[in-house]
Amino acid sequence: MESIGVLMACPMNPYLEQELDKRFTLHRFWKVPDKSTFLTSHSNSIRAVVGNASAGADSQMIEALPKLEIVASFSVGLDKIDLAKCKEKGIRVTNTPDVLTEDVADLAIGLMLAVLRKLCESDRYVRSGKWKIGNYSLTTKFTGKRVGIIGLGRIGMAIAKRAEAFSCPISYHSRTEKPEIKYKYYPSVVELAANCDILVVACSLTEETRHIINRKVIDALGAKGVLINIGRGPHVDEPELVSALVERRLGGAGLDVFEHEPEVPEELFGLDNVVLLPHVGSGTVETRKAMADLVLGNLEAHFLKKPLLTPVV
Ligand code: NAP
Repeated sequence: MESIGVLMACPMNPYLEQELDKRFTLHRFWKVPDKSTFLTSHSNSIRAVVGNASAGADSQMIEALPKLEIVASFSVGLDKIDLAKCKEKGIRVTNTPDVLTEDVADLAIGLMLAVLRKLCESDRYVRSGKWKIGNYSLTTKFTGKRVGIIGLGRIGMAIAKRAEAFSCPISYHSRTEKPEIKYKYYPSVVELAANCDILVVACSLTEETRHIINRKVIDALGAKGVLINIGRGPHVDEPELVSALVERRLGGAGLDVFEHEPEVPEELFGLDNVVLLPHVGSGTVETRKAMADLVLGNLEAHFLKKPLLTPVV
């Protein structure tokens, strides 16, 4: 397989990069100064693209690579891949579901605890020596809070399971009600937000779910409500979120993802009711290794003409 050209869209994982380099002819796209000339000159040799949550295969890249057979994403989210174009051209697509579910769900619960119990803020209190002057102010109880989840898929279900262990009543919104699930269903996000204390975004990013968190939803969640986003940044109308937090119309937010990451609105930096993370939902050594192995397994299966491990298209 050494002669097969594989294009890695951006740096994502050293182990994956090293293994791709060993097994294929690896091209590192982020190191290429003139990308369009590069695509033209390698249009006959690149047969696979490896992308992730920040860079994938858009329509322009797919059109420029007529020999492209497979896009293997080092992520479960597919929002950086033009799926319609892949379908149209018969290009296979794979992602890394399941192996990252537990980590992302753990992090969502961590964010809930961090926001309500002000874990990061009270850590800063100790480090700055303020404890010697006085005790830290009281925070908000997490156990028993009503948790509303947008997108009850793999990660949404894993969050629900964890929140249940904290005696949290669970409700959800998705495109269709799941009759086999005992949690309360709300057909609209506004209704869900009005009936929970903590609203979690765990759906996939599509044209339909872009800005699913808007002014109406934020107002429904209210001054005591908390938003947790472990989905994708563009799920949230960020300027609306920032003004609601600054004006204390929203109680707090725990954010792993941002609309224009790695850019984060600076107005959030001085707020004690937000916890900000640099998109690390699946970022553990164990999970990133499992995701890398899944990408490698999918590529090998494809080029050996075996069934793909985690096909999307
Ligand atoms: P999944 O099992 O496919 O679940 C996605 C859910 O989104 C489904 O339950 C689907 O429900 C719901 N959904 C789709 N369109 C919707 C809409 N218009 N309105 C409401 N709900 C909608 O995917 P997953 O493995 O749980 O991953 C979910 C997302 O998490 C990924 O797409 C990714 O963007 C994000 N993620 C983030 C990180 C991180 O590092 N922060 C890591 C991994 C994943 P219905 O089909 O019933 O509508």
